[in-house]
Amino acid sequence: MRVLFAARPEAWQAWAPALREACPEMDLDRGGEPASFDAIIYAPGGEIEDLSPYGNARLVQSLWAGVERIVTNPTLTQPLARMVDPGLARGMAEFCTGWAMRAHLGMDRYAQDGTWRNDVVAPLAPQRGVTILGLGELGRATAAMLGAIGFRLAGFSASGRPVEGVEVFDADHLAAALGRAEILINLLPDTARTRDLLDDDHLAMLPRGAWIINPGRGTAIVDAALIAALDRGDLGHAVLDVFRTEPLPGGHPFWSHPGVTVTPHIAAETRPETAAPVVAENLRRAMSGRPILNLVDRDRGY
Ligand code: NAP
Repeated sequence: MRVLFAARPEAWQAWAPALREACPEMDLDRGGEPASFDAIIYAPGGEIEDLSPYGNARLVQSLWAGVERIVTNPTLTQPLARMVDPGLARGMAEFCTGWAMRAHLGMDRYAQDGTWRNDVVAPLAPQRGVTILGLGELGRATAAMLGAIGFRLAGFSASGRPVEGVEVFDADHLAAALGRAEILINLLPDTARTRDLLDDDHLAMLPRGAWIINPGRGTAIVDAALIAALDRGDLGHAVLDVFRTEPLPGGHPFWSHPGVTVTPHIAAETRPETAAPVVAENLRRAMSGRPILNLVDRDRGY
């Protein structure tokens, strides 16, 4: 099985050993005659844009969970699988839980300035409403970790499929999901339907003082609407990991806004040690004609 590794050159060092160990029968290469490849392992930032010469490839396996940059490629005709990796899911759950605890405990109230601020008692987790937008692989992993702490969880997904321990709202009931969100976590993919979802009107549905944690995609939030809501004091704080332009440009108001914490798209990494076996399994499935796991629905865009 000949497999093309189409990603940033730096990624090769990290991935090649893990992929070869997980799938020793694979002949992994960074380039070569396009028609010779049986499958493509893909991540944004590589050199290959035109996938049409790779007509013999039976699978394009993304190393990223978010596939907006490949699913919209008009030259993609091969089946596309997105990354579902236990390490990625745990990493995201830990990121969201950490920042949710900062919001929940009001950690930002305390400063080494000689003031004894003992007037506010944080509620316990069962009195705190947390809403997760997107209850896919990462949203559900995050819900499980926050649920173990005891938070009152609501969630929002296209289908409204039930998730244990979560009050789930479908695509027609975003307002109800937002109304419960003292802490709002966005884990929606970037699609035509999720873009600009959190605009002036929807941000106004959040309880006063709500925190937003966004490790999903920057396109879900209208930047100017978020800044206006923070400036009015309607929202408490925003922790933003993803942006419309990355890296976030130096002059962007998010960098200097006291109500914003910027993290540089580090919420969750796909880790070769946990993800390589997932890739190997899908490559074997593609080669033997068995159903491919985690296929992307091109019409939905995720
Ligand atoms: P997933 O398994 O595909 O789940 C997507 C979820 O979003 C599903 O619950 C889906 O609903 C819901 N959804 C999609 N469109 C919707 C709409 N229009 N209205 C309501 N709900 C909608 O994706 P995942 O693996 O959890 O990943 C989620 C996103 O996280 C990725 O797309 C990527 O953008 C982001 N991410 C960020 C990082 C980082 O480091 N910052 C790392 C990895 C991933 P259904 O369940 O009904 O289909």
